[in-house]
Amino acid sequence: MPSLASLGLTLFCLLGHTVSQSFQSTSRTVLDRGPSGLNLSPGAELYVANKDGKFDTTIAQRWSDFQNPTFLGIVVVANENDIINTIKFATKNKIPFLTLGGTHGYSTTLSKVQNGIAIDLRKSFISVSVNSAANTATVGGAALIQDLVNAVHGAGKQTPTGTCPCVGILGAALGGGIGRLQGMHGLMSDNIISARMVLANGNAVTVSATENKDLFWAIRGAGHNFGVVTQATIKVYPQQNNGNHVNGDLIFTADKLEAFYTLLNAQTPLPAPLSIFSLFVKLDPAAAPVILVNMVYAGPEAEGRAIIAKFSALGTVSTLVVVVPWNKLSDTAALGLGNAVCARGNRKNMFGVGLKTINIVAMRDIFNTFSEMLKNYPDTVGSAITIESFSVQGVQAFSDASSAYPHRDINNHVLLNMAYSDASIDNAITNYSMAIRAKFQANTGFPSLKTYMNYGRGDEPNAVLYGQSKLQTLGVAKKKYDPSGVFNAYHAIPACN
Ligand SMILES: Cc1cc2nc3c(=O)[nH]c(=O)nc-3n(C[C@H](O)[C@H](O)[C@H](O)COP(=O)(O)OP(=O)(O)OC[C@H]3O[C@@H](n4cnc5c(N)ncnc54)[C@H](O)[C@@H]3O)c2cc1C
Repeated sequence: MPSLASLGLTLFCLLGHTVSQSFQSTSRTVLDRGPSGLNLSPGAELYVANKDGKFDTTIAQRWSDFQNPTFLGIVVVANENDIINTIKFATKNKIPFLTLGGTHGYSTTLSKVQNGIAIDLRKSFISVSVNSAANTATVGGAALIQDLVNAVHGAGKQTPTGTCPCVGILGAALGGGIGRLQGMHGLMSDNIISARMVLANGNAVTVSATENKDLFWAIRGAGHNFGVVTQATIKVYPQQNNGNHVNGDLIFTADKLEAFYTLLNAQTPLPAPLSIFSLFVKLDPAAAPVILVNMVYAGPEAEGRAIIAKFSALGTVSTLVVVVPWNKLSDTAALGLGNAVCARGNRKNMFGVGLKTINIVAMRDIFNTFSEMLKNYPDTVGSAITIESFSVQGVQAFSDASSAYPHRDINNHVLLNMAYSDASIDNAITNYSMAIRAKFQANTGFPSLKTYMNYGRGDEPNAVLYGQSKLQTLGVAKKKYDPSGVFNAYHAIPACN
């Protein structure tokens, strides 16, 4: 029987309070690279913001300009010691800091870092090497998904990755890492064998199934909370179908919405090699939004073509089916939109929701609301509502207890990507997006809300992002490894006993 005190602590932990953190504004003049300051190695670069808070280079440009972190200085670290010394300097001076990987993170929680220091891994921690005999790849802390795909494909192997080429491997994998090959091999995080990381106290440690096991469990689903991962070793698998994937791009007019989602629900859970993305999007700015469907089958061509044909038979504006090597998929899939989505800059006002099934009536309502927003705010013409439908077979081959990742039963990940340039419409677009998110949330097919943490906006309760059942263990790990909450910028987990 637990004591009242321990119950109280548990409740405190589960309610999701955050540890207070001193984000005090500090003069940029404090940033000195010498031994009495950051104590950087000769190979490190230090960029200091001008008095307007701007940098003379494009180094600070992120994927999104919406609710961003701001920095007094950016330290382009050259080695592990630079990371250790920067963390020690920042914590001693109570300056918030943030690791920069692919800089595609968009959670509004990142804006908690104001006048901080960036620990930029993008120069010296970007290598990817494959050990073919061992079926492993070792990736740097800021290596990108396309770097991994190129290296692994080149070695005649495959491994699960996120879909967009420009995203940081570890930025994605530390939160789970969902993507097209998850039906066969699980999440990116399921495939981490070991990682090297620098902790809040400046210690560098290795985590694996045999070393720092509690931390190894925690970083595979909630990893951004616990340190700077400088490199990780992951599993790779023998390539199937000579590394070729069947890619189908189908365009449906809006009147096919009900038929399309009825057929999609009927295929769920999807077969292991199949992923289906459906996007509400304007392909022609002057025309009505359409439903763009991208289907990728990582199996034999005939099987892939047969499944795509079932959907195409509903009646498309166009159907394009090609077989492409894995390393060229992002150039091809969804008419090449994956590459376009990578473009930096512009405001990206983002929301995510996890669905078990797709509610057809709600989808029509959502399509109408989205169309109304596009009409009333023409600046949002580049926006999209995307539903990423994945197989969960490979994901469920790993037990829920195996890592901190909580949502192995999400069949469909919704992403609202509202893109525009005019900051004066932020509130209006946020209101539209919240109304649309509420329609999804009212129809998830789950008894409680679930959102993949990397797709979270930053306003969700922690139970939604991390799963109620994981919060206590995560809170205990947080207390052990980051008691002061210096790694609290990205969907912070409160420390608890
Ligand atoms: C266009 C686009 C496509 C996406 N597609 C997918 C997808 O297919 N699958 C998927 O799972 N997710 C996807 N995401 C979501 C993505 O996983 C998150 O946005 C992720 O946080 C991006 O990581 P990053 O390294 O690029 O960004 P960053 O902004 O650099 O990092 C995001 C967070 O992770 C931390 N971080 C980054 N690297 C490290 C590290 N080495 N050690 C410790 N902390 C680190 C940062 O400090 C920050 O808190 C996509 C996002 C975008 C914008």
